[in-house]
Amino acid sequence: MSISHFSIPRPSDRLDDIPGYGRGRAGQTVSFRHRLGSNEAPDAPSPSVQAAVAAAFAGVNRYPDLRGETLSEALVRRHGLSPDAVAVGAGSIVILDQLIRAWCDPGDEVVTPWRSYEAYPILAALAGARMVEVPLDGSARLDPAKLLAAVGPRCRVVLICNPNNPTGTALSEDAIDALLASLPQDVLVILDEAYADYAGDAADVAARLARRLSRHANLAVLRTFSKAWGLAGMRVGYCLADPRIIAAVHAVQPPFPLPTPALAAALASLAEPEAVAARVATNATERARLSDGLVKTGLPVADSAANFIWLPVGDDAERLTAHLAAAGIAVRCFAGEGVRITTGTAVDTDAVLGAAAGWDARNLRAGSGQNKGS
Ligand SMILES: *Cc1c(COP(=O)(O)O)cnc(C)c1O
Repeated sequence: MSISHFSIPRPSDRLDDIPGYGRGRAGQTVSFRHRLGSNEAPDAPSPSVQAAVAAAFAGVNRYPDLRGETLSEALVRRHGLSPDAVAVGAGSIVILDQLIRAWCDPGDEVVTPWRSYEAYPILAALAGARMVEVPLDGSARLDPAKLLAAVGPRCRVVLICNPNNPTGTALSEDAIDALLASLPQDVLVILDEAYADYAGDAADVAARLARRLSRHANLAVLRTFSKAWGLAGMRVGYCLADPRIIAAVHAVQPPFPLPTPALAAALASLAEPEAVAARVATNATERARLSDGLVKTGLPVADSAANFIWLPVGDDAERLTAHLAAAGIAVRCFAGEGVRITTGTAVDTDAVLGAAAGWDARNLRAGSGQNKGS
C-alpha cells in the first residue's frame, strides 16, 4: 500500500522517540542455517504437545477460558501457591506491559539495571514512565548498592531481570533475597525470570519462589514458556504475585488472554517436565563448549546462567555479527556493546566455533588484533 498524502490524526507524543523492538532481526533478508538470535529452544515440541494443540484446534469456534483458568490451576499447583496468585498472558512481555501500565502514571519512574532486555525502555515509555538505568558493574552484573541508591520518590517499579538478558549474568538467590529485603515496600518489584529454568534445580527454584512471595507482598515474578519450555511461538507467559497484584493485572488485561491451542500446549508441556530437564542439560553442555571454545579464540565471554552467552566486544559487535552471518549464523548484535549468541544444538556450537576460528585470523590480518571488553 502506498502512503496517502492526507495526514492521519496524530498519535500520542509518548510514541515519539520510542526505540524499535527486535533490531537484531529487522531487515533480515537471508535465511540462516543457525538461528541463534532470539534465545529460543532449538528442538520442536514433543509429539504429545503437538497432539494437544491439534485437539484443541478442533474446538476454536468457542471462546477460550476467560482468564486462562485451566492453565492457572496447573501453575499454582506446580508452584505451591493459592489459586488467585497467578495471571497468565500471551507472553510474559504482555504481562510486564500490563504491570507497568497498572502501576505507573506519566512521570513515574521505572528503575532497572542496564544493559538489560530491550523491551523494558519501550514498555516504560509507552506508559509515559521515565526509565532510570543503573549501570551494571565491571563483570556485567547487577550492582545492588547502586540500584538501591537509584530508587527515588517517583519510583513505582523496580525491574530486575535475573539471569539478565543479554549478559547472561545472574545474582545468587541469596543476593536477590537480600536486595528484596532492602527495597522499599511501597515499590512494585518485578523479577523477570524468563531464564530461571536454566539457572538452577527446578524443584528448589519452585519452593524458593513460594517462600519469597510469602515474604514480599510487593513482588511480582514473571515466567515464560518461551525459553526452556520450548513454546516461543505459542506466546504463553505468567505472573506469580500477591492476589492484590494479580487483581490489578486482571483489571488492565482484556478478557480471553490466551487462545485455546496455546493453553493446551502449555498444559501438555507442564505434564512433561523431563523435556525441560533435558533441554536444560543440553544447554549446560553446549553453553560450556561454546564459552570455552570462544575464550580459546581470544573472544571475551561473560559468565552465563542462561541459554545464551554475551560477548562484550564493544566496537567490534557489528563486524563480528556480519562475520557470523556470512557463515549462516544469526546472532543478536548490540552495536557498540557486544554480541549475544543463543546456545543451540551441538551442530550450532560447531558452526559458531568454526566461524570464530576464522574471525581471529581475519582480525589479525586486518591488523586490529585487539578485542575490547573483558
Ligand atoms: C525472552 C524473554 C522474555 C519472554 O518473553 P515472552 O513474551 O514470554 O516470550 C521475557 N523477558 C526476557 C528478559 C526475555 O529475554
